[in-house]
Amino acid sequence: LPVLAIVGRPNVGKSALVNRILGRREAVVEDVPGVTRDRVAYKAEWNGRRFTLVDTGGWEPDASGINAAVAAQAEVAIDLADVVLFVVDSNVGATATDEHVVKLLRKANRPVFLAANKVDDTRQEPQASALWSLGLGEPYPVSALHGRGVADLLDIIMQKMPEVSNVAKQEVGGPRRVAILGRPNVGKSSLLNKAAGEERVVVNELAGTTRDPVDEQIELGGKVWTFVDTAGIRKRVHLSQGADFYASLRTSAALEKAEVAVVVLDVTEPISTQDLRIIDLVLESGRALVLAFNKWDLLDDDRRRYLEREIEQDLAHVTWAPRVNISARTGRHLEKLVPALELALESWDTRIPTGKFNAFLAELTAAHPHPVRGGKQPRVLFGTQAASRPPTFVLFTTGFLDPGYRRYVQRRLREIYGFEGSPIVVNMRVRE
Ligand code: GDP
Repeated sequence: LPVLAIVGRPNVGKSALVNRILGRREAVVEDVPGVTRDRVAYKAEWNGRRFTLVDTGGWEPDASGINAAVAAQAEVAIDLADVVLFVVDSNVGATATDEHVVKLLRKANRPVFLAANKVDDTRQEPQASALWSLGLGEPYPVSALHGRGVADLLDIIMQKMPEVSNVAKQEVGGPRRVAILGRPNVGKSSLLNKAAGEERVVVNELAGTTRDPVDEQIELGGKVWTFVDTAGIRKRVHLSQGADFYASLRTSAALEKAEVAVVVLDVTEPISTQDLRIIDLVLESGRALVLAFNKWDLLDDDRRRYLEREIEQDLAHVTWAPRVNISARTGRHLEKLVPALELALESWDTRIPTGKFNAFLAELTAAHPHPVRGGKQPRVLFGTQAASRPPTFVLFTTGFLDPGYRRYVQRRLREIYGFEGSPIVVNMRVRE
């Protein structure tokens, strides 16, 4: 999906605008700066067109960190969005921070729209006009709180929104897109450097691709891959605050562009909540997943035993993800990454023909019928794979299936078809 990112200083009304666009009644707006929400990407729709809305508003730094934080927000938006919506408070006018962001935005090769927020009635419109001075073109007067002008602005934005994300266009036959994720210091950039250093190809103009400057194309295992948002991996951003939110924003945005994620874990340290949070983001995004256990050269026997236990306990929900044990430093087993990526993508792309899937369902329900619930026994009438990437199945049933029974269906799907490296989704439609 194409991506629209909302950027602006704290308190200009980004959250209110996000709520307005998502059509939420209960505004999550609070007048307290510093309120953080860790969701950054939302599925949104306007006039029947779907897009991803990236909200940078969860990150509201105090005055001391404002410039760095807002610049970092803008930078993420510029790197990863198809269209940027820059919000200014028309009651305040353009501040030095706004001017600073504008400089970054003007360098960006992206459509940028300027929303002059808090124009609650016509009398305030001249304040919006004053923002022509920013040099970003026409300021669109809106009131995120009252909804004024928002629909018109969205109509105009949608005209500039690509049908599919610029990145997704590369899809057909182009290099597959990989995101390298992980918390700081696990070895992401070492991995990237090792991979690029050994097998870098100079691919400037690969036919049919529009290369994004923040991505890098690297040949591995005889194939070219696009590693997305490598700029974000190589560049170290030092923020006194908001570092977690920034990391989470980058992770979500990179996932948006990728087809498969390599989550890098550091074997010398316990698996942390941050690691698990990153894996959760991958699962939420529906992308394929490979786990890379890095710094294997530093692993001793004691730690190894602990690690095995941790994997069993903490990673039980992703046993289907291929694992590679590597050392970005020595290059150990790096060559195993490619088959793991290929396997995960193959699973992610899989389509099971409807006939075959129904034969599978018939066998599964015969072997283990749904238990009787309150005198009724829901039956699975029919099923189909509604989508791939990731494989998504729909079961038509005569009643609500127990969560346990749905897990059974998932388990059997994996037993029969594997789907290594891909999440699978099983939905239900009850037919009365
Ligand atoms: P990033 O923050 O995830 O990009 O992590 P870096 O790639 O910057 O690595 C963090 C530190 O771990 C650096 O000092 C690396 O040299 C070191 N490192 C990375 N991979 C390995 C590895 O496989 N083995 C060892 N011994 N050190 C590693």
